[in-house]
Amino acid sequence: MQEKIDQVIEVLQQAVRGYSPVCFANSLGAEDMVLTDIIAKLPLPNPLPQAGEGANDTLRESLHSIEMFSLDTGRLPQPTYDLIQEVGERYSVPLKVYFPDSDAVERYVAQNGVNGFYGSVDARKSCCFVRKVEPLRRALRGKKAWVTGLRRDQAVTRGSLEVSAYDADFGLQKFNPLLEWSNKDVWAYIRQNNVPYNKLHDQFYPSLGCAPCTRSITPGEDIRAGRWWWENPEDKECGLHVAKPTLLKRA
Ligand code: SF4
Repeated sequence: MQEKIDQVIEVLQQAVRGYSPVCFANSLGAEDMVLTDIIAKLPLPNPLPQAGEGANDTLRESLHSIEMFSLDTGRLPQPTYDLIQEVGERYSVPLKVYFPDSDAVERYVAQNGVNGFYGSVDARKSCCFVRKVEPLRRALRGKKAWVTGLRRDQAVTRGSLEVSAYDADFGLQKFNPLLEWSNKDVWAYIRQNNVPYNKLHDQFYPSLGCAPCTRSITPGEDIRAGRWWWENPEDKECGLHVAKPTLLKRA
């Protein structure tokens, strides 16, 4: 496990050294709670840099410079809000929360209905665009890299990911330090380090998103089977981690 943690730290250091400012898009899933804990526990540079030559370089390389944020879509389940609160209280790394543009949400609801995302893949992706992709674009503005907790075996849509690659859709480098971790690795880290996690994971919700678009799964089902369960597996991304962003239907 320590070797895997060291590899994660190495990837984070590469990001900070080569692409500052870096941010960490914390989805509050189990993987991202592992990253939160690793980042928060990293020691500050020792000795602390003095003002003057080289100080900025050293500070820039500090993983504590990684800004952490989450997206509140307005449709999250209550246990996710409980976890946001707990992260804020437990860790010294601040968690900034971004919200959707209220005018865009109002236009979406007027056109599609408050639960219009069940109507079609396009309507669902439009809702994800308004509530997730647009706020993500704002969160990434001015950054040179973003860090995610994606793992390769989470979904068929994630098989070809790389640990570090240019994200042409968002125009910055993307780092996936947990890419080769297994689900078992993630939970071993959480248990060993007493990391807070979303209590819905204990109720057969291995992958979490908005409340109306996530259901529990039964033993043997794919871990993302509960996300947009009415859609085909190849459609199951929200626009945050796909090659081409979904275009928003405007009212
Ligand atoms: S997951 Fe569902 S409720 Fe959340 S933004 Fe996407 S379509 Fe909308």
